[in-house]
Amino acid sequence: MRMLILVFLTIQTTFSKIVESDILVNDLKNFSNKRRSEFISLDSVSRSKRQVSTVYPKWTDKTLYYIFDSNISDEKKALLTTAMQRIMNNTCIRFADGSSQTNRVKFTNGDGCASYIGMIGGTQPIYFEDTCMLTGIGIHEIMHALGVYHEHSRYDRDDYITINLANVPASSQSNFKKISSQESYNPYSFEYGSTMLYSVNSFGTGSMSAKNSDYSRTMGLRKGSFLDMKILNTDYDCSCPSDPGCQNGGYPNPNDCSQCLCTDGFGGALCTENAANQVTFTASNTYVTKSINFGLNQTITSFYQPSIAIYAPSGKTIQFRFTSLSNFYCMNGCNMNGVEVKYMTDRRITNPIICCFDNDLWSRLYSTTNNPLIINLHTRVAVQSTVKFQFRYI
Ligand SMILES: [Zn+2]
Repeated sequence: MRMLILVFLTIQTTFSKIVESDILVNDLKNFSNKRRSEFISLDSVSRSKRQVSTVYPKWTDKTLYYIFDSNISDEKKALLTTAMQRIMNNTCIRFADGSSQTNRVKFTNGDGCASYIGMIGGTQPIYFEDTCMLTGIGIHEIMHALGVYHEHSRYDRDDYITINLANVPASSQSNFKKISSQESYNPYSFEYGSTMLYSVNSFGTGSMSAKNSDYSRTMGLRKGSFLDMKILNTDYDCSCPSDPGCQNGGYPNPNDCSQCLCTDGFGGALCTENAANQVTFTASNTYVTKSINFGLNQTITSFYQPSIAIYAPSGKTIQFRFTSLSNFYCMNGCNMNGVEVKYMTDRRITNPIICCFDNDLWSRLYSTTNNPLIINLHTRVAVQSTVKFQFRYI
């Protein structure tokens, strides 16, 4: 017997409506292999008075087979294909035609954006209605099907987010159930920029907030972060026998072990070169002011992330601040457009995303010994944005 439970979370903005996803819960009694999952389960089963164990098989041969339902539009196919390609480019997981397969995913329209966790056997749906049309939501649902749970369900989540169940409707409180460390593991630290994390107040005003308030708008980012991809590699045992010497937080690419998968802003075989779509500057010891326009003349299905790299002499501290941000859309998740100053020492993690002006995050002076300093710019729609900024070294 299977049971489908859907919870729809809606983010209202002045520009678009994005329906968050939830997990489809299945009866796993037929599975005997206990699976360690990197994220703990969102148990949407309280209404059924049952508990779901973390018995979620991975896809065999690291391959997820899929088919498209006839109601999936060409545009949606293109978006989902982009999402799968991004995962293939960054992991050893493969996606392949499931027409002749028994165990497979069927992308189908309707009923929100939702997926089962892991491979449940037979043909399992990923529901992907028209409001799901962000590449990062596609990645979110596919990651569920690959076996990844929500970030806000991790057993260590209380160190990073505050849940106030008094502000959560009783019917939604099961979304915050945690699974013990005996039943799950977290290979990397909590990631506010994970595509598996819901936005603040997803379950009502005052329901969920970031303990580090700098990350309030970052929560809900639908991108598919560096650590999201690395978690998949860890979970599916995608590894290389040796490290060719990856720099700046990169690690060996399981698709080509002589190359590295790089953190945002870096490229080249060893992550020591400029990333694509990058503008570089060299800082001096006095402030220089620059302005950059960025955007992409495509639809909401696209994700475009150019970046800025600021270099300074070795051993210097770089200081950076925005002086203006034009044509930004303030919303939780900054999913229309946003900027990210990657000032934190660990280049793997998502730094706070800026798309609002309701605190000093956007105008703050950032100081970092990261050299180069990377500033990510992103947009998903046909929006042209302008950033003006100053930098120097001290
Ligand atoms: Zn989900």
